Amino acid sequence: KSNGQLVIVSNRGACTFRETSQGVKGIPSVSGLVSALEPVVAREGGVWVAWGGRFGNEGDETGISCPLPEGDPKYVFQEVMLAPREVDLYYNGFANSCLWPLCHNFIEKSVFEEQYWQAYCQVNEKYARVILRTTKPQDFIWIHDYHLAKVPSYIRRFRTRARISLFWHIPFPPAEIFAVMPWAKEYISDMLDAELVGFHTQNYAQNFLQAAEEIAGAKVDYVSGTIYRERKRTKVVALPIGINWREFESLAGSAEVMQRAAQIRRSVGGDYMLVGVDRLDYTKGILERLQALAWLFKNCPQYRGKVTFVQIAVPSRTDTYAYQELRRKIEETVGRINGAFTENYHVPVRYLFKSLSKEELVAHYLAADMALVTPVKDGLNLVAKEYVVTNANNTGVLLLSPFAGAAQQLKEALQANPFSPRETAEQIIAGLEMPDAEKKRRLKALNNVVRNQDIDWWWEQLRLNWLGDVLQSRYVS
Ligand code: UDP
Repeated sequence: KSNGQLVIVSNRGACTFRETSQGVKGIPSVSGLVSALEPVVAREGGVWVAWGGRFGNEGDETGISCPLPEGDPKYVFQEVMLAPREVDLYYNGFANSCLWPLCHNFIEKSVFEEQYWQAYCQVNEKYARVILRTTKPQDFIWIHDYHLAKVPSYIRRFRTRARISLFWHIPFPPAEIFAVMPWAKEYISDMLDAELVGFHTQNYAQNFLQAAEEIAGAKVDYVSGTIYRERKRTKVVALPIGINWREFESLAGSAEVMQRAAQIRRSVGGDYMLVGVDRLDYTKGILERLQALAWLFKNCPQYRGKVTFVQIAVPSRTDTYAYQELRRKIEETVGRINGAFTENYHVPVRYLFKSLSKEELVAHYLAADMALVTPVKDGLNLVAKEYVVTNANNTGVLLLSPFAGAAQQLKEALQANPFSPRETAEQIIAGLEMPDAEKKRRLKALNNVVRNQDIDWWWEQLRLNWLGDVLQSRYVS
């Protein structure tokens, strides 16, 4: 057996550091990726390499190492230091203004700036140096997401036999879209320095295989999902990330959360409450969803005064112009709909621009008769899975866009094309009018999938595909 340990690498980690008068203090950070990876690294042990939110100079690389969780350490958090300019150009620039829109099929929003690309390469190389310095040659390096896809190649220059896997958490677009990016060939080639590349859906995996063939000129076996290049082999797998459903089940069963749900339901009033929970991002289809509601209230006036839609919009990338513009449009549209369709002082759209605690979030899931998860493009979407688990003993309805990766798994959800306000409105009505028995039947089927293909399943499948039984999981289900 190998004595290598697991090394998780991501843009942000489980903790953000702040300088205080008593020294550096760690604050737990919240994100879908962190809640997915923390249980894995806490169980397997090892190292988590990430930026800790502190700024250094461009020459600073390795920050502090800190055992986590505090009081009961299971793994080591290894901080990477970044300069403000690096974060701006690599993160806000290349990752979020070039790759993010491109991979969500918004070519026209993608900014192709040479200096963004240079900074991206520089930061990825810096990560590789920190990894090389703080880990051992026999370690298993698991890199996450589109922020760090060049890290495999920088590591391999010095550690040719390193064991490296890359998981891509957002959609991978069709090859002809990715090819538009001026640095596409180098980018794809560098990703192939990982021995295993994972995606959420079969579609993204197929798109990547095609990009490897057409853009990087690799030889591809589409049947086994293997890419051959310069005597190297990269395996490509589709493995949708799961959730820690026990956490949501237990929150949904807590007396305080149930009371809070009832309180929310009372203050919202009306006969039906619909909920949407998204980062305020143009990929999430919030504007399109509002247009569908406007269609519904205009064409089906019998629902006015009865249906309330609660949109929780979590502030995101607020420094970026595209996101400020979107926020303005959303707020304008909410105002217009409420102006036009408020009846008897019943306000049809309630809009919150803030992030909620897990308890508040689950209370909203519980209070809602229906969740509208209608992104125009989404890598997977965890909210859909969380809603299903939370309402396992209720009568909720999930309306899901076919353009969310989760739609490949959650076949028993209602579906609507977010680009059609009429179709979306009709499916909302289908959900509102659905008999309870059918709601329960669908929720049961959905719960089977979400609970079987959970976060432990995801890691276990990934581990088997990557390492076989080399890194024996200590987890016994
Ligand atoms: N979330 C949260 N607080 C909020 C709203 C959302 O903690 O106020 C969490 C939610 O539980 C989910 C994640 O944020 O786990 C969003 O993940 P998703 O895959 O739906 O979208 P992403 O933001 O990753 O694009």
